[in-house]
Amino acid sequence: METNLARLADSAHERLGDHPSLFFDGTWHTSGSMHERSKHVAHGLVRLGVAPGDRVIVIMANCPEVTILYHAVWRAGAAVTPVVFLVTALELRHIIDDSGAAAVFTTPEILPKVEEALDGRPVPVVVIGAAGSHVSFTDLEAGTEPLAIVDRSPDDLAALMYTGGTTGRSKGVALSHANLAYSGRSSRARSHVEGVTRGQISLPLSHAFGLLVTVGAMHVVEPGSTVLQRWFEPKSFLELAVEHRSQSFAVVPSMLAMMLQFPLEEMDLSDLRFVYSGAAPLSPAVREDFERRVPSVTVMEGYGCTETGGIVSGSPPLSARPGTVGKVVDDVELRIVGADGSDLPPGQDGEIVVRGPNVMRGYWRGEPLGDGGWFHTGDVGRLDGDGYLTIVDRIKDLIIRGGYNVYPRDVEDALLAHPEVSMAAVVGRPDPRLGEEVVAFVSLAEGATATEAELIEFTKGRLAAHKYPRTVTVLPAIPLTSVGKLDRKRLRATVTAD
Ligand code: ATP
Repeated sequence: METNLARLADSAHERLGDHPSLFFDGTWHTSGSMHERSKHVAHGLVRLGVAPGDRVIVIMANCPEVTILYHAVWRAGAAVTPVVFLVTALELRHIIDDSGAAAVFTTPEILPKVEEALDGRPVPVVVIGAAGSHVSFTDLEAGTEPLAIVDRSPDDLAALMYTGGTTGRSKGVALSHANLAYSGRSSRARSHVEGVTRGQISLPLSHAFGLLVTVGAMHVVEPGSTVLQRWFEPKSFLELAVEHRSQSFAVVPSMLAMMLQFPLEEMDLSDLRFVYSGAAPLSPAVREDFERRVPSVTVMEGYGCTETGGIVSGSPPLSARPGTVGKVVDDVELRIVGADGSDLPPGQDGEIVVRGPNVMRGYWRGEPLGDGGWFHTGDVGRLDGDGYLTIVDRIKDLIIRGGYNVYPRDVEDALLAHPEVSMAAVVGRPDPRLGEEVVAFVSLAEGATATEAELIEFTKGRLAAHKYPRTVTVLPAIPLTSVGKLDRKRLRATVTAD
């Protein structure tokens, strides 16, 4: 199988010809124009001094240039280091130093942060827009010729992704061409349905999920048409979907929860067939509500980690099993193991471990994965008799209250079953008597009147005595990470402080 991402992009383009590929900010960009530009930008990269194997940081909100740059970097034989633009200057400095970046691509709004992070380090900066004393993207492209693909081997680095650090310090995940080619192909296999070609996303293309969609369903393995939003804003996201008759969305669950606050029944979303949800737990209440209110839709859940090229499992297109994250993708092995590392039978909860061509060799500058290449995900899950996987929760988020295990997800799902709760996040608060106490934060639907006491009562009726939250705090909005996951780290800090 071809695994060079630049070659895959070339052959997909040759097979499918020119077509409207990416809609952004009022304009359709054709696949031909983007592909051609990436060849020129690749030459610009070489002129800038980027050599095969170098890492190129791309830090900007979603825009067509992100995709063009990824392709150009792969063409030039280098690797991308996508960084979410919300990082602090200090976090960015860590990434610049740790990756040994050869160049940074950014936009004028983010430039001050990049300069602060660089603090005099002699790394060239290219700016899309007004560049000041730096190189502008226009200058980079000027007078360039299309660059022939610089050959790489399947194990060579294609992307160095820094995990966002929702659970600890940010680490570089080294993904090869083969890793991304396989995960892209798997995501395509899990999402391809004849006639469904127009997708919509606002996920950051800098996150593993966004990158996976870029590689798999959009622009490398098999290009379709994509409506891209700079960042997620629910009202305009829905308006774009109506205007462009989008057929699929790729989302994280908090985006669906936010969309439910809008009068979906009154919008013409009749072309929308699939919603692909991943990156975080999807509550049954949110899924059911969305499917009920937009009857043309089936919500499909997938599961993955940055370390696995963004994908581990997903439902085959027409056989979703609600509540599960589908089946492990082709060529990937998955086991559920107990604390002693032994395999557990279907129906039992244990850690999910995976091995396969999509799995990274190891962390950047770290040792290769031990344990025969098995990656320990840190997630608890279970398989059913047919191989469908259910995610229980993250091991790190487990709350131990008076010796009993409480998974935040169960408590969150119980709160979300209340019609007035729009988002819920549960964490453990250190407790001198019980070790930890279960505390919840919720945001409510507009006009809702539910009180904290009522919500506690509601969960009491649905959860065992050791599980229901002893405090429920109503917040105007639940803090989210840059990709839209519940920011438990931030919430934990608030309850640990008092
Ligand atoms: P970081 O490591 O940056 O702190 P992270 O652990 O969220 O953040 P990612 O690689 O972005 O890193 O996400 C992978 C994790 O996301 C998985 O290990 C799992 O905990 C969670 N996840 C992904 N998909 C799902 C899903 N469908 N349901 C539940 N959890 C999911």
